[in-house]
Amino acid sequence: MEIFDVTVIGGGPSGLFALFYAGMRGAKAKVIDVLPELGGQLYALYPEKYIYDMPGFPAIVAQDLVKGCVDQAFQWPHAKCLEERVTDIARDEDGAFTVVTDKDRHRTRAIVLTTGIGAFSPRKLAAPSAERFEGSGLHYYARAFDEFAGLRVTIVGGGDSAVDYALALEPRAASVAVVHRSAFRAHASTVDRLRASRVQIHQPDFEVEEVHGDARVSAVTIVNKVQEGRPDIVDDMRSGRIQLIFNTTEGAQAIADSFSLRRTALTHNIPYYTTVAGARAAVQAIGALRRGSLEVAPLQSYF
Ligand SMILES: Cc1cc2nc3c(=O)[nH]c(=O)nc-3n(C[C@H](O)[C@H](O)[C@H](O)COP(=O)(O)OP(=O)(O)OC[C@H]3O[C@@H](n4cnc5c(N)ncnc54)[C@H](O)[C@@H]3O)c2cc1C
Repeated sequence: MEIFDVTVIGGGPSGLFALFYAGMRGAKAKVIDVLPELGGQLYALYPEKYIYDMPGFPAIVAQDLVKGCVDQAFQWPHAKCLEERVTDIARDEDGAFTVVTDKDRHRTRAIVLTTGIGAFSPRKLAAPSAERFEGSGLHYYARAFDEFAGLRVTIVGGGDSAVDYALALEPRAASVAVVHRSAFRAHASTVDRLRASRVQIHQPDFEVEEVHGDARVSAVTIVNKVQEGRPDIVDDMRSGRIQLIFNTTEGAQAIADSFSLRRTALTHNIPYYTTVAGARAAVQAIGALRRGSLEVAPLQSYF
């Protein structure tokens, strides 16, 4: 079996740069990736998105950066094994390695691991109705931006991906809204651009509660904070949509807002917890009730 000097596992930008350096050093190199194309997350998840933090480029589209990285890496005739998942690495008696994939075995003197985040798996939207719309209006990545032309788009999240996607889709979509439950984690300058854009921002303390539609997504319900527009969370409590509240307030505004929540909780008989310890105890009690194992015990039995 042919033996390579270097085998790079993972053909994202880091792996491609490792291949370039292998070539510069005169090494015979190979790259293995489970995906059908080189480029890692850039090509698989956001090929049309601009990247703003690449040295030497004020802005560059991800797939163009991948093309540059591939051209740079393949100035030498490196071997390329795509659609192969590495499952094991074994040390051989001669000191070299055997890289085992789901399709083949590869001998190599050195290995560079550039597997990034590994297999890509998005964090799913918690709203219970979300799952049935996956692929029918609910997307975890925006690969082709023109798919969203003329649509009303809601982006859930506040990291770099969410803010970048919002800015990229804003000129194409009929409208773009960003819904996020806490502070933005994206770069400060892109958040500034977002705030200056036409994107509607629902942040912080907003969450998608429900996804609606028949065959495709047609709307989402977000819970509004008190005084951020109607219906707000107090309306949801009054109508019975919210039946349990955990509210750990921080800051004068949150404490002021909580007056109407507490009053509504009291008048509508809704359990209301204000500490994490209280919330934890309530969750444990609900779990115990569901298991049917709740029993009454005298206080003395605990001491
Ligand atoms: C939506 C989005 C937007 C982003 N925007 C930016 C941005 O604007 N600027 C920025 O700097 N960063 C951005 N990032 C982050 C950036 O994409 C990553 O930091 C970058 O891709 C990491 O490169 P990498 O080569 O280390 O790993 P990856 O790109 O994750 O590549 C790793 C490769 O290893 C392969 N692999 C993993 N395990 C195996 C295995 N067992 N066998 C075979 N192959 C395997 C994978 O298939 C993948 O191709 C963004 C990320 C996302 C999701």
